Amino acid sequence: MTTLTNCLLPLAGRAPLTIVSGAGSYVFDSAGRRYLDATTGIGVNALGHAHPRVTAALIDQARQSIHTSNLFHNPFQDQLAKRLCAMTRLDCAFFSSTGTEAVEAALKAVRARRRGRIVALNRSFHGRTIGSLAVTGRAKYREPFGQLTPEVIFVEPNDCAALERAFDGDTAGMILEPILGEGGIIPLDADFLRLARELAMQHGALLIADEIQCGLGRTGFRFAYEESGVQPDIVVLAKPLACGLPLGATLFSEEAADALPPGAHGTTFGGGPLACRLALEFLDVMEESLPHIRRAGDQLLEGLRGLQQRHPAIAEVRGRGLLLGLQLDVAGARFVESARELGLLINCTHETVLRLLPPFTLSWGEANQIVRALDEMFVQAS
Ligand code: PMP
Repeated sequence: MTTLTNCLLPLAGRAPLTIVSGAGSYVFDSAGRRYLDATTGIGVNALGHAHPRVTAALIDQARQSIHTSNLFHNPFQDQLAKRLCAMTRLDCAFFSSTGTEAVEAALKAVRARRRGRIVALNRSFHGRTIGSLAVTGRAKYREPFGQLTPEVIFVEPNDCAALERAFDGDTAGMILEPILGEGGIIPLDADFLRLARELAMQHGALLIADEIQCGLGRTGFRFAYEESGVQPDIVVLAKPLACGLPLGATLFSEEAADALPPGAHGTTFGGGPLACRLALEFLDVMEESLPHIRRAGDQLLEGLRGLQQRHPAIAEVRGRGLLLGLQLDVAGARFVESARELGLLINCTHETVLRLLPPFTLSWGEANQIVRALDEMFVQAS
């Protein structure tokens, strides 16, 4: 029996903190206390809080039109589709409202094209709706809901031999996060990504890159798969895309898109004018920020590696750009609390990984502040 303390279904492990406002890299609680935000709403507030360009576009667009539905065109959806297609070198876009819906659209295309198996990775996370859950590589999230379709083969990240064994003529597609986010910031090797591409091609299957957490500038590149030179058939985006408004995007190659003819899929909310206008603004700022993200990421990484030398609780530092994780050899939850007491918001994923997702605007001083707060946190814990 669940004990209810208020009227919210108690699914999320919430911190006892009410955030009332934010500015740049900081948020403020109801008592006016300031916190450096290295969670950014799980990667959504990538431009920080109350970014002036976002606020201005939001107010201006809200005065004109918020929602039109997809019975009509709006001035921003086609523009955004063109821009994302050019960035991903894919052919068309479908807009939805959340990450899990963007993944569902990808899976529906794969299934409509071929009724075969899907290859996915252990420790992956693709969302909580039934289809996305089916390809999510954590049994604890899937098992309460019984048998899920489609049929999925899970492979260990970066295990090339297992990947080769997983593919055959019945494989319809493969879904992967180029850097596993919820799974604990695990970058896939370029060789593994290239093998996934090659096997999918060889077996006529589609390759889906879930860039919901690692994409759109987070690594200092537009997409995390970019450096490997791999071209996915489908790219899935959400989180930071519309600066905090719900927006998911699924980008398809022409071949993948052919599987979803008119009427095969749809949404009421996805791709509204307000969300799409903010996404265009996001892309402009993100493109300008890429060199800064790489520099700030390198600086933070260096600071974290310094911490690893001093604190034996840190087993490994992983990640790229501003998607970084500290692999601990103990449970991470209590560190999240002590960081918060020191004025730093972080979170813990996969039980033992402290995840840092600071905003793209992170300054040199703020990066140092993160390192100093973590240092103090580990000193207090020892
Ligand atoms: N894919 C990845 C890689 C994610 O990190 C997430 C969310 N953490 C999702 C899918 C699901 O996104 P949403 O919560 O917006 O449905």
